[in-house]
Amino acid sequence: MVEYAKIKKIPYGGDYNPEQWPEESWEEDMRLLKLAHIDIVTLNVFSWAMLQPDEDTYCFDKLDKIMALVKKNDLKVCLATATGAHPAWMARKHPDILRVDTNGARHKFGSRHNSCPSSPTYRKYAAALAKKLAERYQDHDNLVAWHISNEYGGECYCENCERKFREWLKDKYGSIEEVNRVWNTAFWGHTFYDFEDIVVPNHLSEHWGNDRTTFQGISLDYKRFNSENLLAVYRMEYDVIHAVTPDIPITTNLMGTFPGLDYQMWGKYMDFISWDNYPANDTPAEGNAMRHDLMRGLKQGKPFALMEQTPSVTNWLPYNMLKRPGVMRLWSYQAVAHGADTVMFFQMKRSIGACEKYHGAVIDHAGHENTRVFREVTQLGAELEKLGDETLGARSESRAAILFDWDNWWAVSYSAGPSIYLDYCREVEHYYKAFFDRNIPVDMIGVENDLSPYALVVAPVLYMVKTGYDEKLREYVKNGGRFLTTFFSGYVDEHDLVTIGGYPGKLRDILGIWVEEEDALPEDMHNSFHYQGKTYSASLLCDLLHTEGAESLSVYNEDFYAGMPVLTKNAFGKGFGYYVATSSDDAFYRDYIGEICEEAGILPIMDTPEQIEVTKRVNKNGSFVFFLNHGETDHVAALPFGGTDLLSGKAYEAGDALTLEKKGVAILKLR
Ligand SMILES: [Zn+2]
Repeated sequence: MVEYAKIKKIPYGGDYNPEQWPEESWEEDMRLLKLAHIDIVTLNVFSWAMLQPDEDTYCFDKLDKIMALVKKNDLKVCLATATGAHPAWMARKHPDILRVDTNGARHKFGSRHNSCPSSPTYRKYAAALAKKLAERYQDHDNLVAWHISNEYGGECYCENCERKFREWLKDKYGSIEEVNRVWNTAFWGHTFYDFEDIVVPNHLSEHWGNDRTTFQGISLDYKRFNSENLLAVYRMEYDVIHAVTPDIPITTNLMGTFPGLDYQMWGKYMDFISWDNYPANDTPAEGNAMRHDLMRGLKQGKPFALMEQTPSVTNWLPYNMLKRPGVMRLWSYQAVAHGADTVMFFQMKRSIGACEKYHGAVIDHAGHENTRVFREVTQLGAELEKLGDETLGARSESRAAILFDWDNWWAVSYSAGPSIYLDYCREVEHYYKAFFDRNIPVDMIGVENDLSPYALVVAPVLYMVKTGYDEKLREYVKNGGRFLTTFFSGYVDEHDLVTIGGYPGKLRDILGIWVEEEDALPEDMHNSFHYQGKTYSASLLCDLLHTEGAESLSVYNEDFYAGMPVLTKNAFGKGFGYYVATSSDDAFYRDYIGEICEEAGILPIMDTPEQIEVTKRVNKNGSFVFFLNHGETDHVAALPFGGTDLLSGKAYEAGDALTLEKKGVAILKLR
């Protein structure tokens, strides 16, 4: 969609479900959507029941009418395959399509995202429907993208999944002996004699409480299997559609830091990345920014699609705050600032029943254009029209990267000890914020990414070092790279088996340290350390480490390990390995990352007052600097460069002051 050759501007629109409404209301919907400058709709997301009322009958009459309606109104279509929720008859006739939960209970018909990915029934009918849709609508020239299923996720523990899991293990490990080795089944007498002995890890076997597990290796492999199994059904639909319409790009909507699926693997099989951004009431600006960057990183920095966001309010939080005036616009541009080439919403029109009837929409229950939300949507629509294709395809340029790895996340989450308060995403966010606060662009990368474009790579809590990754880091640092990692890193391999000989295992030589013990502190307990004349907190986990070549930059102030190193720096080849032995506070991350960036020659785009976020994108049309005022008051930024604000049309010289009102945005095209 990003390369929507057919739209010479940022596509603007979102999910539209006219099948939930009487046909006589559709023309009025069209009037309102056109009034709001909407030019694309996502159709058919949950229409399987309508399209296939029984085993042998397909009925496209209504969808034909809807497709004709939107074409007549010059709207582009992102067409979903409707396989995100199966029809009731299918559940009644073919119970294999129903998921079995962690307690072994087979679910009944209900909710959505409810189909077992191993179900032969699901696979047969999902592929058939995708093929029929592709064949039927392939010649619609306003069909610009395919949207497979919806927000894939969840697990199933049925007998078909169990069988498939055993096959997956056979393929991966070859022999039961190897399975026993990588899962360390000598522990608690878990030795498996045959693949048939293996059962799915859930609350009937290895899991307890809130998805804690007694066997990390088994649970980790089931996560991987489940992610790949869902990916297989996505790819099945992808293949049948691609065979019919090879020139129409295909995606599915991802969900940012969603723990269920390895999005770095999924990204390889998507023509473009799209995702749904639903921050919580208290998500800070850098939380949104990090997720945009993470999604951009799935396709090596290529622009992505903002597939969904709410124009005003969500419906699933304990309390659902309205987006304040200007916030929808600000966050839409924030997505664009981080690489989005679309601005889309869920939803165009509020339904009258069921759980999303109070979810925000462009067309509210009031049914007319005289609402705050409609006015804000219309204003943004007009602006995007004016912006045209200037920024399309533009890329970000980063010399710093943060490593984010789903396998590592799963392994940290499943770990029994050292602390249930250890949250991988939160530790990554600490470091992300340090770059964000300084307006230093950063890429979120995976373990397969090339490290050579970066002068600094930060890998918070790199607990799992997969085979070969230490070698990649070693080469990178030897050649002049700067690598920073933290407490609870280098402990295990990809099977969650500990690397013996001292933590951080295979990273020891790069970092020039060894970690003897780690102290997990309760939430209200802190240690501290001094660095460069300031005192910072040490919390969560405190490694007790010894240097073996590294320089100690600071030591703990308190407790029996007072005087032991907490910050170290190791010269290794032409580069450096940095170790931060504890979790600290925002001030520390900001100061320390700032210092390392300065050493590495990594410059901020410019300095701004706090609350003003700045990003930069570059394409053949030029360089664009986005200014986003997340604050509650007006702010003034002194410009180090001249350019023209594409939104206001105002020209600036270097040295001029750019005033941004509360929640204001400017996009400066540099001269
Ligand atoms: Zn299943």
